[in-house]
Amino acid sequence: MIITKPRDWTRILGNLDEVGAKRVFIMGCGQCASVAGTGDEKAILQAKAALEQSGREVTGWAIGEVACHLAAMRLETRKRHGEIESADAVLVLTCGSGVQTVADSVDKPVFPGLESVFLGNVIRHGVFEERCQMCGDCVLDLTAGICPVTTCPKGLLNGPCGGMWAGKCEVLTDRECTHVRIQRRLAEQGRTRVAEIPAKDFSKKLKPGSINMRAPKDEGEGKP
Ligand code: SF4
Ligand code: SF4
Repeated sequence: MIITKPRDWTRILGNLDEVGAKRVFIMGCGQCASVAGTGDEKAILQAKAALEQSGREVTGWAIGEVACHLAAMRLETRKRHGEIESADAVLVLTCGSGVQTVADSVDKPVFPGLESVFLGNVIRHGVFEERCQMCGDCVLDLTAGICPVTTCPKGLLNGPCGGMWAGKCEVLTDRECTHVRIQRRLAEQGRTRVAEIPAKDFSKKLKPGSINMRAPKDEGEGKP
């Protein structure tokens, strides 16, 4: 899921001041931002209270079921047309993708209310860790399901680096070195590490990412 954290509130108020927004509509997200507790009902009501405390009126709020889904967001904003129309701006408590979907769906100035920080795993309630940077050239098949690109602070594919000490990472000293973990898990599974993982093909991570699942596939591509 996309991990978000609250954005500097002074900056948000500055954004609203820039467009002279006295009336604000708030949009949250029922998916990642709700799980993270940054764009759910509680977070929205906290933002509403803060906006009211700053002398602004909140014309309404909603939680988009999937804020990054353009058709669903257009439907949601149509349902809230009156409340959005009477607002001077929309504050969006979702990841950056959701903010852009809202901006594509309404004619008002739209401002982010959160910072999008990483694609994360939920370790336990309220605890998230980055495990994948979506490089487009996955090596988990070679590394026993542990991502060196993301979990090694240096992103080394063929570690450990010279700084590893007694199995610990030299950068994140409270953690085990990623490559020690990889080596151990491979051994536990009776597997041997490939001599060297080839350099990553970063052409597979072109920006902006775009996939059209409806387009006809090349022979064999994406088929089991
Ligand atoms: S190698 Fe790591 S960053 Fe790349 S796709 Fe696999 S898990 Fe994600
Ligand atoms: S000690 Fe291991 S995990 Fe830490 S930076 Fe070096 S190779 Fe990466």
